Amino acid sequence: MISEHDLLDFWEIGQTKPLIERSLLLVSLWHPTYDFSQVAAMPIGERDLHLLEIRKNLFGDILNNTAHCPECKQKLEWEMTIDAIRTVSPQNVDIQKGQSLEYDGNLIQFRLPNSSDIMEIMALGNGTSNDEVLLRRCIEADSLPPTYSHEIPDALRNAIIEKMEASDPQADMMVAISCPECGQNWNATFDIISYLWAEIDDWANNLVQDVYLLAKNFGWSENDILEMGTFRRNLYINLLYA
Ligand SMILES: [Zn+2]
Repeated sequence: MISEHDLLDFWEIGQTKPLIERSLLLVSLWHPTYDFSQVAAMPIGERDLHLLEIRKNLFGDILNNTAHCPECKQKLEWEMTIDAIRTVSPQNVDIQKGQSLEYDGNLIQFRLPNSSDIMEIMALGNGTSNDEVLLRRCIEADSLPPTYSHEIPDALRNAIIEKMEASDPQADMMVAISCPECGQNWNATFDIISYLWAEIDDWANNLVQDVYLLAKNFGWSENDILEMGTFRRNLYINLLYA
């Protein structure tokens, strides 16, 4: 847990950072036992389980968002609980990073992709094959037979990707949506990082506005206003409009 004061500081620091870095920073602030690089090394699903838990603590269990129907293009709203979107119990948050599979008589060892991999690929920009870079980063080079060192066979590539997805199901969050207009059913991707940031951004903007109102009318310092908590802030703000 972090205080409102620390969350507001996080929001300010986050402004200048890429979204993915904001999410890693938030998990490391929330859990002081992990530093930034440890969070960056977590499998994506493990990181996202932490983000879901943080979201539940900050803003509750119910997720609301909008989506566009791929068939009739209608904009619609969906609602889902965090418990329903979790594929892994929050108690089993440690996902096995090291994986292996047998291919053509060789035991190929690899680890699950993490945020460091994603940041590295983003830094490379377009023009490189992301899948190729990701696989090369994740496969234990020593376990790859020399015949595959230049090109990983498609069958092996697919087998590794399949096992990565199966081993880290939380990495790919999907919401089943049904269009009330045309009856189309589809799965929409849910991105907890941008969703949670948008909520923190709204929260912080409202809080700053409350601080402004109270400081202007009562002369209290930002620190005092933050310390008093939401309940009492609302009492005083209601008095201003009474
Ligand atoms: Zn539709």
